[in-house]
Amino acid sequence: MVDTVIVGGGPAGASCALWLKMLGFKPCIIERRASLGGLQNDSPYPNQWIAPIFGKSGAEVAAEMHAHILSHGIECRLGEAVVEVSSRGNGFAVTTDIGAQIDGKTVVLASGVRPSTGDLKAALNLLVGPGVQVASQDFAGKQVAILGGGDNAFENYLFIKNRGAANVHIYARSIRARKEFLETVPVEDVHVGQYSVDERQTTVSGRQYDQIVVLYGWEPHLPYAKSLGLARDPRGFVLTDPDCQTSVPGAFAIGEVAQRMHPCCVTSMADGVVAAKAIQRTLERDAVTKFVATAKRAGQLFKQMARA
Ligand SMILES: Cc1cc2nc3c(=O)[nH]c(=O)nc-3n(C[C@H](O)[C@H](O)[C@H](O)COP(=O)(O)OP(=O)(O)OC[C@H]3O[C@@H](n4cnc5c(N)ncnc54)[C@H](O)[C@@H]3O)c2cc1C
Repeated sequence: MVDTVIVGGGPAGASCALWLKMLGFKPCIIERRASLGGLQNDSPYPNQWIAPIFGKSGAEVAAEMHAHILSHGIECRLGEAVVEVSSRGNGFAVTTDIGAQIDGKTVVLASGVRPSTGDLKAALNLLVGPGVQVASQDFAGKQVAILGGGDNAFENYLFIKNRGAANVHIYARSIRARKEFLETVPVEDVHVGQYSVDERQTTVSGRQYDQIVVLYGWEPHLPYAKSLGLARDPRGFVLTDPDCQTSVPGAFAIGEVAQRMHPCCVTSMADGVVAAKAIQRTLERDAVTKFVATAKRAGQLFKQMARA
């Protein structure tokens, strides 16, 4: 049995594993991808949002995270997806898609988010979510519609325009993008209000496009945790206390799956630290209780021997 099974090796899970290892515990990361780093693997763009990291793309940040965690000899089961987490005695049983069962005294859910599809189906002419797939697309001379009104929609508008698209239009039911983007994107390219999408014809409100890019934000991803019956918010994000403790004692949720703070690498990593320290308190409390019980028993034995 390991001290903590961590589901997902993105910034949150990797940070939690590192801190647990440094604190003297035995964590085990289970990561569906072949390498650690989570969503950062999908970003070819510069990551300029981590103060001590300079001049690296998201993918390079992910590669560094992967190498760092492995250098500490932390157990990582890569290329293996968790299919179920259930409570078992004083801990948790974690089952993976190759039929392995890993038991942990505690469990950390760090499986992040998936791009929301808005019930649309990804296809060659309909990309869902930002990242590598958008960056690797040839937009030259194309008519492109972006669906969504957040930072991602506006940032990708600029990216796609710079890639030589003939026309790029944003369709947003509401606008949530930051001021910087609102000042850069021409207002005539933004349609605010209701619109309809025909995936087969690649049309939006009747207008023909070559490519539709869906940037509807993100939704939490933890189908494997159903039997835990975790308390969730109306959008499905896992509710936790300030220690990242969920409604099930011993089960913690960190990073974007809990979305307690502004989602990014640094806040996800901070969650990992907070959970690791809470787990330390939980496991050491048990160790102290056991120690005191043993010491009391030994004391009684000692008295009996002295009397005899
Ligand atoms: C294109 C792009 C650019 C970005 N740029 C930046 C940036 O510049 N700066 C910044 O701070 N943030 C950026 N972000 C956001 C940042 O990557 C995320 O906030 C961060 O990765 C969230 O970390 P996380 O560990 O919570 O989740 P994730 O990174 O999503 O990690 C979750 C991990 O869990 C794994 N997983 C999921 N389900 C299972 C399962 N059942 N079994 C096993 N493993 C599972 C996934 O494979 C994944 O590796 C960017 C995101 C994208 C998509």
